[in-house]
Amino acid sequence: MRLQLLPSTLSETGNASVQQHLSCFVIDDCLAIDAGSLAIATTSIQKKQIRDVVLTHAHLDHIAGLPLFIDDLFASLEEPIRVHATKEVIENLQRHIFNWEIYPNFSELHNENGAVLKYYQFEIGTEKFIKHLCLKALEVNHKVQTVGFLIADEKSKIAFTSDTAEMDGFWKAINAEKSLAAILIECAFPDELKKLASQSYHLTPTTLKTELENLKSTTCPIYVINIKPMYREKIVKQIEELEIENLRILEVGKIYEW
Ligand SMILES: [Zn+2]
Repeated sequence: MRLQLLPSTLSETGNASVQQHLSCFVIDDCLAIDAGSLAIATTSIQKKQIRDVVLTHAHLDHIAGLPLFIDDLFASLEEPIRVHATKEVIENLQRHIFNWEIYPNFSELHNENGAVLKYYQFEIGTEKFIKHLCLKALEVNHKVQTVGFLIADEKSKIAFTSDTAEMDGFWKAINAEKSLAAILIECAFPDELKKLASQSYHLTPTTLKTELENLKSTTCPIYVINIKPMYREKIVKQIEELEIENLRILEVGKIYEW
């Protein structure tokens, strides 16, 4: 399985910045988990192949690229963009984004090949097969209903939290797994902002450390995601100071293979 966190901004030199402003993880160039930078950072191959978009929740940094992605590809789509999400997320997209006011309701529109947007609902705790991948939606703990995932292909399985504060159901599911190739977990704010982190249901390095104590086996690499760009340096330093050997930062743009 190949996974890439797409870049979302440019550095001063015009190259992809290391900061994660938006959230969009592409797996095997054909499936997107969240759609933050889907329209702006996908390669031409990814644009051609990604027709399934799985959403963890409807916060803007996770869905921002979806309307533009469908718009950009509108005329060339030979099959619809399939958006997989919980009922609540689908309703929020229909009510607040694809409502003809913020953007067209693409689910009512067709190109010459047919529909351009279709919704597929899933429930927390269930497994879903998309192409060669199996995704199990896991309960996490964010300000709005949000899911993490266990994602597996025939070779390996990884776990992914999306945005979350302290969790319960996620760890139960993770600890029931025999072997994981990697765990991706969020850490949005530095310790100084623990009140803001708690109000917005995110982790800090200290709460991340406490969360990781729920893991029965900690041998696989654990990658930190969703670091707020404004506090990146501070958070990275505080994560290093935790001195957890298999804990590292997931690099924006890098292709990971498991
Ligand atoms: Zn969020």
